[in-house]
Amino acid sequence: MEANRVYNFNPGPAALPLEVLKEAQAEFLNFRESGMSILEISHRAKQYDAVHAQAKADIKELMGLGEDYEVLFIQGGASQQFAMIPMNFASKEHPGNYVLSGSFASKAYKEAQILGVGEVAASSKEVDFRHIPTQDELKINPEAAYLHLCYNNTIYGTEYHYVPDTKGVPLFADMSSDMLSRPVDFKKFDFIYAGVQKNLGPAGVVLVVAKKSLIEKSRETLPTMFRYDTFLNKDSLYNTPPVFCIYMVGKVAAWIKAQGGLSAMEERNRKKAKVVYDAIDNSDGFYRGHADKDSRSLMNVTFRLPSEELEKKFVAEALENKLSGVKGHRSVGGMRASIYNAMPYEGCEALADFMEKFRKANA
Ligand SMILES: *Cc1c(COP(=O)(O)O)cnc(C)c1O
Repeated sequence: MEANRVYNFNPGPAALPLEVLKEAQAEFLNFRESGMSILEISHRAKQYDAVHAQAKADIKELMGLGEDYEVLFIQGGASQQFAMIPMNFASKEHPGNYVLSGSFASKAYKEAQILGVGEVAASSKEVDFRHIPTQDELKINPEAAYLHLCYNNTIYGTEYHYVPDTKGVPLFADMSSDMLSRPVDFKKFDFIYAGVQKNLGPAGVVLVVAKKSLIEKSRETLPTMFRYDTFLNKDSLYNTPPVFCIYMVGKVAAWIKAQGGLSAMEERNRKKAKVVYDAIDNSDGFYRGHADKDSRSLMNVTFRLPSEELEKKFVAEALENKLSGVKGHRSVGGMRASIYNAMPYEGCEALADFMEKFRKANA
């Protein structure tokens, strides 16, 4: 670790790979011989064209997807997708079906409800979102326009470890907090989206990867900027895209490729998560994980301490040890260590060592 930096466990915006930050810094003032920075360049310039096309190609390559899928860049955050999805695809006859597995999953459902086109297919709310609903728990309406999942629940620290069988209903997923963290059978999904500020870049853009044949069915009665086919037909350049964000997402995708792709990311992420979960499991009950073991997230590790007083002390002392951003979300309380792709193994090891020392001093 660089002397003046910390291990950043923030949930989002979150850590970016140091190599990526340094590369962006090195080419900042004169981007590809343009004599200006990427922040100042036209989105129609040839230098930017190459960035845009390469980012899309690398993302599709990492996901193992072909010509039938398209990569779109849309602003408004993942939260805007919660509304755009039902606006474009759901109706009273063909409602959106939702699995409520946490806060963001519930927010997505709420937007569909505002439009009068949302239905619940399953929920783990009664058990405080400690687990991901299983295949047997899903009640999918065969007439549904789609089944919507939140693949990794950033706040509760749970993650899908299976791809639901929808019996032909299109499968939609919010992968904001685990996109490109491990291989997934992406071909089983019709529509995937991710606010990039968790695992892929800075805040400001959402990555959408969806079947072209589906996007082509965007609702025609919507204003231009709310239709997915506007982004498809104009290569996400109908209006000015957030060029800096897309440039950074492209760099992160190239970095993931250089690490060995999604299988290598998974191996690394499993090793990282294990060292932190082991610190919880081997603490004689001092640390209590929020998620059930079979639903644990590789990206967000949530746990409580014996008292809120100790939790405050933990956050403060962690920071003294250069471990930043470990305070949990107010709806769960306690701690949350977000250990996305960019968090090195050493950061997780440092957190686990600190947890062990803190427990010995305070148990
Ligand atoms: C952070 C997050 C969101 C919200 O993203 P915004 O881009 O801030 O709207 C939605 N879904 C998940 C899973 C998230 O982690």
